[in-house]
Amino acid sequence: MADLRLYRVALRIPLPYRFKLLALAVVAAGLPLAALIIRDGGDHPAAIGWAFAATLLSLAALVELLRPIGVVARTLERAAAPRDEAVAPDARDEAARMICDARGLTAELEALRERAHGRHSHSRLPTRESFLASIGLSDRPRSRTGVLGILRLVDYDLMAVFDQGEADAVLAALAGRLTAAVGERRPLGHIDRDCFALWFDDVEGAQSATSELDALANGLRQELSAGGVRLTPKVTVSAAVFPDDADDPATLLARACAAAAGSDERLERKVALFSNETAAAARERFALEQGLRGARGREEFLLNYQPVVDLSVGAVVGAEALLRWRGPDGGLVAPAHFIPVLEQSGMMEEVGLWVLNAACREARSWERAGLAGMKMAVNLSARQLREASLLNTIVRTLDRHGLDPASLELELTESAALVDDDGTRALLGELRALGVTVAIDDFGTGYSSLSNLRKLPFSKLKIDREFVAGVDKNRDNHAICSSLIALARGLDITVLAEGAETLEEVQTLHGLGCSAFQGFFFSRPLPAAEFVEKVRSEEWLALLASPVHRELASLSRRVAG
Ligand code: C2E
Ligand code: CA
Ligand code: CA
Repeated sequence: MADLRLYRVALRIPLPYRFKLLALAVVAAGLPLAALIIRDGGDHPAAIGWAFAATLLSLAALVELLRPIGVVARTLERAAAPRDEAVAPDARDEAARMICDARGLTAELEALRERAHGRHSHSRLPTRESFLASIGLSDRPRSRTGVLGILRLVDYDLMAVFDQGEADAVLAALAGRLTAAVGERRPLGHIDRDCFALWFDDVEGAQSATSELDALANGLRQELSAGGVRLTPKVTVSAAVFPDDADDPATLLARACAAAAGSDERLERKVALFSNETAAAARERFALEQGLRGARGREEFLLNYQPVVDLSVGAVVGAEALLRWRGPDGGLVAPAHFIPVLEQSGMMEEVGLWVLNAACREARSWERAGLAGMKMAVNLSARQLREASLLNTIVRTLDRHGLDPASLELELTESAALVDDDGTRALLGELRALGVTVAIDDFGTGYSSLSNLRKLPFSKLKIDREFVAGVDKNRDNHAICSSLIALARGLDITVLAEGAETLEEVQTLHGLGCSAFQGFFFSRPLPAAEFVEKVRSEEWLALLASPVHRELASLSRRVAG
C-alpha cells in the first residue's frame, strides 16, 4: 500500500466530459495508483457515467488508451480546428481555452511524473528522498567520513513573490550550471525548493570538500539570464560532516542546512560549516524568543530608572526608563541581550507600548508623591517610529495618566531618527507642538547627518558613553566631546553625557560646558521604589550640590562669559 495516493484534479473544462475524463485518465496513467475524482460537473449524468467507466477501466487499459501524454492536447486541437466554417466564434474560443487547460494539465502531469520517479520537476535532479537514498547513509560504516554540502538560492522566495516563473527559471539555470560543473563525479540532489545538495564521499577532513564547494558556489554566483531577466544570484553555501556532526541522513541534512542560518544576512562568501557552537547559539536564540513570547502576559517585564542630574541646578531633573526582563530562571536579563530579539521577531512594538504606558504611569505617581519637575525619558525603537498610530498612542497614554506632555521625553537613536523622510519630520514636529520633547540618543555612533540634525526638531543630544569613557585622559574623546558640546550649543539644544563613571570624566565634561549627566558615577538604573528613595536622600543630593561642582559651574560660566 506504500504507493496509494489520492490525486484530486480540478479541471475547469466544462464540456465535453469526454475530454475531462481523458485528462483525468492521463493523470492516472502516469502514476502508480490513482483514485479519480470528478469534482465539478460531477452531478451531470454523463459525467457520472464517464467517471464510473473510468474507475472500472484497468490502469493498463487507460495507459493504452492515452499514450502518449500529448493525446489530450492533440484531440482538443483537432476539435478546435473546425472543418465546419459555420461553427460559432464562442464555440471556437471555448475549444481554444480547452487546449490551454489541457496544456497546463500536461505540464502539471509532467511535474507529478517527475516526482513519482524521484526527480525534481524544475531541475530534473533527484529529490530529497532519492538523493538521500542514493548516498546510502543509513548503513554506512562510521569509519568512512563524508561531507554533505548545501547550496541555496537565497532570493528564491523573494523572487517567487513577484514572478514564480522567473524564480523557477533561475533555479533551473543554476541546476544546469551545477550539473555541468559536477558531472557524474558526485551525487547531486535538488532537496528543497531553493536548495541543492552535494555529497562528498570518503574525504580527508572537510577541507577538500569545502574548497570545492566554495568554487561551485562562486560559479553559481556569476551573472546569468533566465526567464527573461539578467541577475546575479545570491547563493549561500554550508556543510556538515558525517559522522562527526550527525550519522543519520535526516539530521545530517538538517545540520548542513542550519549551518547557513544567518549567513545570508552577512552575505557570507565562505562555506558555513556546522558547529556545535552555532547550533547552541541557535538553540539559545530560539529559547530566548520562545521565552519572550508571552513574557508580557506573565508580567515578566519591568522598568528600571536611571537618574538624570543637572549640575547647573544641582538636582535630579528626570530619569530614563530602561527595560528589564525577569527571564525564566528568575534572573534579570539585560536589554542588549533581548531587545534585538524583540526587534527581529516583531514583538518590539507591543513591548514598546507597554514601556511607554508603564513609564508614564510611574512619572505620574512621582508627581503625586511630590517629586516635581521630573522628565521621564522613554526609548523608542526604529520600528515604533514607523508606526502610523504612534502619535495617537502617545496622546492617549498621556491622557490616560493625566501626565503633562512636558514631563515626557522620547529618545530616538541616531539611525532611527535621521532617516530623511517626511514622516519622521512631521511626527517630530507634531510631538513638539504637543509639548513632548525629543532627544537624540547615542549621538556619534551611527551615520550622523548634521543637516538632518538641523532639520529635525530635537531638544537634546545625548553623547554616547563610547566618547565619554576616559574623556579626561583620551585626547580623541576629549576633542569629540568638546565639538559635540559646541555643536549642541550652536544649535541651541541641551547636551547630556551618558555613562559617566568617574569624577574626572564628570569634571572634564563639566569644564567643557556640559551640565546634564547620566551614569554610574551618580547612580545605576534603579527599581522604581529605590529611585524615589535615592532622589529623596539628603546625602545624595548634597553630592550633586557639592562645592566641587558649584566651583566648576561658576568657573565654566566665567570662562564662557
Ligand atoms: P541606552 O538608551 O543608550 O541606555 C543607556 C544604557 O547605558 C543603559 O543600558 C544603562 O544602564 C547604561 N549605562 C548608564 N550609565 C552607565 C555607566 O556609567 N556605565 C556603563 N557602562 N553603562 C551605563 P541598558 O539598560 O543595558 O540598556 C541598553 C540599551 O537597550 C539602551 O541603551 C537602549 O538602547 C535599549 N533599551 C533599554 N530599554 C529600552 C526600551 O524600553 N525600549 C527600547 N526601544 N530600547 C531600550
Ligand atoms: Ca536611551
Ligand atoms: Ca544612549
